[in-house]
Amino acid sequence: MNIAVIGSGYVGLVAGACFAEQGNDVVCVDNDARKIAMLEQGQIPIYEPGLEDLIERNAKLKRLSFTTELESAVQGAEIIFIAVGTPQDEDGSADLTHVLAVAKGIGKAMNGPKIVVDKSTVPVGTAQLVKRTIQAETSYAVDVVSNPEFLKEGTALDDFLRPDRVVVGVDSEHAEKVMTDLYEPFTRTGNPIIVMDVVSAEMTKYAANTMLAIRVSFMNEIALLCEKSGANINSVRNGIGSDARIGKSFLFPGIGYGGSCFPKDVQALVRTGKDHGVELLLAAAAEQVNARQKRVLLDKIVGHYGSKEAIRGKRFAMWGLAFKPRTDDVREAPALVIMQELVKLGASVQAYDPEANGTFRERFGEHPQITYGESNYDVLTGADALIVCTEWSEFRAPSFTRLKDQLKAPVIFDGRNIFGRKDMQTLGFTYYSIGRPSVTA
Ligand code: NAD
Repeated sequence: MNIAVIGSGYVGLVAGACFAEQGNDVVCVDNDARKIAMLEQGQIPIYEPGLEDLIERNAKLKRLSFTTELESAVQGAEIIFIAVGTPQDEDGSADLTHVLAVAKGIGKAMNGPKIVVDKSTVPVGTAQLVKRTIQAETSYAVDVVSNPEFLKEGTALDDFLRPDRVVVGVDSEHAEKVMTDLYEPFTRTGNPIIVMDVVSAEMTKYAANTMLAIRVSFMNEIALLCEKSGANINSVRNGIGSDARIGKSFLFPGIGYGGSCFPKDVQALVRTGKDHGVELLLAAAAEQVNARQKRVLLDKIVGHYGSKEAIRGKRFAMWGLAFKPRTDDVREAPALVIMQELVKLGASVQAYDPEANGTFRERFGEHPQITYGESNYDVLTGADALIVCTEWSEFRAPSFTRLKDQLKAPVIFDGRNIFGRKDMQTLGFTYYSIGRPSVTA
């Protein structure tokens, strides 16, 4: 099939490369000329494991190309995916500016009947809006399909090529047939293509993300209670996760969820609730808990040194800036909140992330109290303590001798529970983690 994917970010690039990998002819479009120029030269503007190889192979085979020209891309395609960003608007709702600008552009470029697919996460009713926007510009028939994306940054290729399920919201038999044919190669393992009406598909994406966010916030809340009551969240997690009704995944406490999806999607759902006169109490609480959780490590740092004033002049090593491992995405990352507060209190920070030094620096801006290192050991020298914000695998088994040698004091604030408490005790560290009793050197 001839496919156009509009928006070449984390979702658009992965979708485009994976559709090409199955033999489709794909053109990825973006209005960011710098991004397209990079892609045309074989450079990948984001970090996603495996993506570079996949893009290179399919570009070489001429199944995958890149352009800023929406019109020609639309005219050459039977199926057009909209995968542009839907950031949070001031009132919490999803900002549909980019989606509707693309819809208008598609309408103007139409040269025959097409299927347009909302891949971006968009609130219920958006497919209708996209359809109306396109049809205001053309008399050719258009089917607008909702096909929400469930990939996770860091494992995006595997998620896309071998999805747990594909959700497709359609309102015509023709669109159903085209979409099920397109996704058939991805669901050979037996995982289902779930076909439903368009509005239910739109709702499914928000409901899934909000349920996951509630689960994370619930565990973070229980972790706080564990700390105060002397329980250990690891034991509690094992205890509850072994109940088949609960399951083991997504039960790890930390310093709050971030990224481009959970924070904005939960708030957008709350907003949709308000628009329909339904107050979504659980979803709203998940966000409140998350905002509190992003400050939990800061409270521990201030508690350790005795007061906020005592932070002035301290120097911290920070491991991890991305909102989670295996990505360079720092959108809504807890490290942003922690960094902001530390520099406000007069501390300096030596930060390192295997992939996100650049994106963090770009988002946070240059700051005289922040430096970035080339390795995790680089940033330890002369620091008063180590702060762990992201659980990259390479942080899990460091040389603790080097840590002790390089740090001014053997103090670790671990926001991701990557080290064992007993080991820390034996090695002589003062160690704070989440939902577990602290260890004093
Ligand atoms: P992104 O910001 O990485 O990419 C969006 C791209 O769209 C950018 O490259 C931007 O330049 C481009 N763009 C914006 N306006 C355009 C226009 N008018 N014409 C052409 N290109 C335009 O965003 P993303 O993370 O890929 O997310 C895209 C959508 O997918 C969002 O709705 C998001 O909620 C959803 N989603 C994201 C993830 C994820 O893990 N990132 C997962 C599932 C769903």
